[in-house]
Parts: sequence; structure tokens; C-alpha cells
Amino acid sequence: MAQYIDSVCRLCRRERMKLFLKGERCYTDKCAFERRGYPPGQHGQRRIKFSDYGIQLREKQKVKRIYGVSERQFRNYFEKADRQKGITGTNLLILLERRLDNTVYRLGFATSRQEARQLVGHGHFLVNGRKVNIPSYLVKPNDVIEVKEKGKGMARIKEAVKGMARRGIPQWLEMEKANLRGMVKGWPNREELTTPPIQEQLIVELYSK
Ligand code: SF4
Repeated sequence: MAQYIDSVCRLCRRERMKLFLKGERCYTDKCAFERRGYPPGQHGQRRIKFSDYGIQLREKQKVKRIYGVSERQFRNYFEKADRQKGITGTNLLILLERRLDNTVYRLGFATSRQEARQLVGHGHFLVNGRKVNIPSYLVKPNDVIEVKEKGKGMARIKEAVKGMARRGIPQWLEMEKANLRGMVKGWPNREELTTPPIQEQLIVELYSK
């Protein structure tokens, strides 16, 4: 996929909701969606009636954008989720949550998934004592994720950890703030994924056509 280089705030406006893609800024009055909560472009303020297909498509785009994955990656996650036991939509969200970049973000080591992806890509994290620089790496229960010794002094990680209290840590993760170390306690919990709201069954309907 071509890399998206335009303002990520446009994506929130396009999806007509805050997707929290820009870290701390999302919680301030500088948030673009707070100022202009309508889609970008000349016809952004027009009322649009979406078809069923349009509604499903927007839901898929929204989730793709939240987790910052390409269409092909997203499709692969869906196919994997579909092969697993259980509810496909829930499986899909759990797979996305288990990505290492998302886990780093959820643990509070980064203010956004985009920043987490960059930090992981630059090799600042160890998983079970071994360097992992693949953002799509899937964590599993009992994995230990820690900031490498060299990264512990990084101002952006320290700042992110400071702001962590606002977001909180999901129950499937545990964090030792003093050692900058996180632990995966169990599988991600669908009930906790409420911000922003996701209707994953619409994605299943879209891909099942
Ligand atoms: Fe931009 Fe964050 Fe506001 Fe979205 S929620 S418009 S990414 S500042």
C-alpha cells in the first residue's frame, strides 16, 4: 500500500469520529475533529445517505485506520480470524490488538500506534529478552515486553509513560512502570475495546459478500 502521508486528522474527519491517531493532541482543544467535525473537502458538510455497502465499507476503513494496517494486511487478518474457532469479528479485533505496535501503545510506551510502530521498527523493544523490530509481531499470554536499556532514557518514551494514566492499561496487560516492562496476562478482551466504538459484524458482512 502506498504510505499515507496526508494529515491523519483528515481520517478522523472522514470517518466522522475521533480515532485518536495523534497522541496527546487528541485530548486537547487542538484536535481537528473538535474544531471541524465534518468530512474534509468541498462537499464535506453535505448530508450523505450511505447504502448498506457504504456503511460496511466505512466500518472496515475505520478499523484499518485505527490500527494503521494496509488493505492486504487487513484482509490477511480477516482470513486468519475466519479460520479460527469463535466469532470471526471478535477474532479479527483480537488479532489486531495483539500486534506488537498496538501492545506497546496500550502499555503506554508510545502516545499513538504510529509512534509505537516507529519505536518498534527502530528496535527499541525486547520481547522475552530478544529484540523484535516487527510491528506486526503477535504477542501471546506470558510474553514480556520491555524497553531496551538504551531506549530507557528516551524523552518520548518517558513522556508517553507520564501520559499513560489518562488512557489506562487494559486488563489483559500489566505494566511495571519503574522497569518500563509490560507483561501479557491473557488474551485481549473484546468488552474493553469501546473507544472508538467498532461494529465488527459489518466488516464480516462486507467480506462475506
Ligand atoms: Fe487529529 Fe487526534 Fe483529533 Fe483525530 S482525534 S482529529 S487524530 S487530534
